[in-house]
Amino acid sequence: MDTADLAARATAHLADLVAFDTTSRGSNLALIEHVEALLGDLGVSGTRVANADGSKANIYATLGPMVEGGIVLSGHTDVVPVDGQPWSSDPFTLTTRDGRLYGRGTCDMKGFLALALATAPLFAEPGRLKRPIHLAFSYDEEVGCLGAPSMIAEIAKRLPKPAAVIVGEPTMMDVVHGHKGITSYVVTVTGHEAHSSLTHLGVSANMAAIRLMGLLADLAAGFERDADPSSPFVPPHPTLTIGQIHGGTAVNILARECVFVFDLRCPPGVDAERLLAPFHAAAAALDAEMKAHFPETGVAVARRSSTPSFAPEPDGVAERIARGLAGDNGPARVVAYAAEAGQFQGAGFSTVICGPGSIEQAHQPDEYCEVAQIERGAAFMLRLADLLSN
Ligand SMILES: [Zn+2]
Repeated sequence: MDTADLAARATAHLADLVAFDTTSRGSNLALIEHVEALLGDLGVSGTRVANADGSKANIYATLGPMVEGGIVLSGHTDVVPVDGQPWSSDPFTLTTRDGRLYGRGTCDMKGFLALALATAPLFAEPGRLKRPIHLAFSYDEEVGCLGAPSMIAEIAKRLPKPAAVIVGEPTMMDVVHGHKGITSYVVTVTGHEAHSSLTHLGVSANMAAIRLMGLLADLAAGFERDADPSSPFVPPHPTLTIGQIHGGTAVNILARECVFVFDLRCPPGVDAERLLAPFHAAAAALDAEMKAHFPETGVAVARRSSTPSFAPEPDGVAERIARGLAGDNGPARVVAYAAEAGQFQGAGFSTVICGPGSIEQAHQPDEYCEVAQIERGAAFMLRLADLLSN
């Protein structure tokens, strides 16, 4: 199989994968069954790791011998919604125009999954590989990297230790060795309703909430002032932003409830909880102050998600391998988005991010992956098969 053949096969697989609407809010099981059938044709059985209600699943599978020193190819099966986006063609029908493959998930990140599946027959050829390929496909990455941890725990426990993990998020096939972590919170402020003219008879959840939001805004400004000019990240400091606010029902009612969510993104080595200590203290103080007047009121802070950061590894095995496969002699790179790389690294695996397409096209209407990127990805996979054959 040469690069052009493999790229053509990958494109056919991509068309199949894009046709499954795996928006995170729905089930991904139809796609998982499709992957199981493809692997089954090769005599390989995958292992599902399902979510609590069984509506979604991760899948992992080993191609080649069950020995140490293999490579994990990791990707997520879910995609972000297309709702309200102006698409020029059906987002769930792969469409080729001007050397680009259009469709939801083409770059983020079904293009990488398609390359892995297209190369699977080669990886699975009896006697070909001396060290294995482990496929690791997750669910619910786009809603806070919620799916992968249960699968990563099983891989760590059940499989012979792999040498490296390659997470195929879109990097234009360049090698990336770091990303920030994300912690997100939901804050629910409960007030006591009263007519807006009678502020002494109630407590407005909105008026209380903005005190906390003001404190968060001050913290965010402080992060910017304390930026580390030597940080490779853009921007070179933690960021904090309040993404949603819902509060109150009318202008003339003291609001009964205000809910807001915020996310905090920290470079490796920065502890989110330490940065948020002043916020947690203020929330606790405000809660006590409100309850002193109306016992049913108060502030509840709940962590919604926590995606660990991904730190550059000194002399990283995964980075060295991926640079060889990608022919990448460029500078060290980090990315602004978070992925499952930090979760794999946290489980003790040397990890790198490298995949086709650009993050600039991800999550957009008319998301696309260049045909040339699939060709580069195909060359990467063929070199990977060679590497593991020796
Ligand atoms: Zn992604």
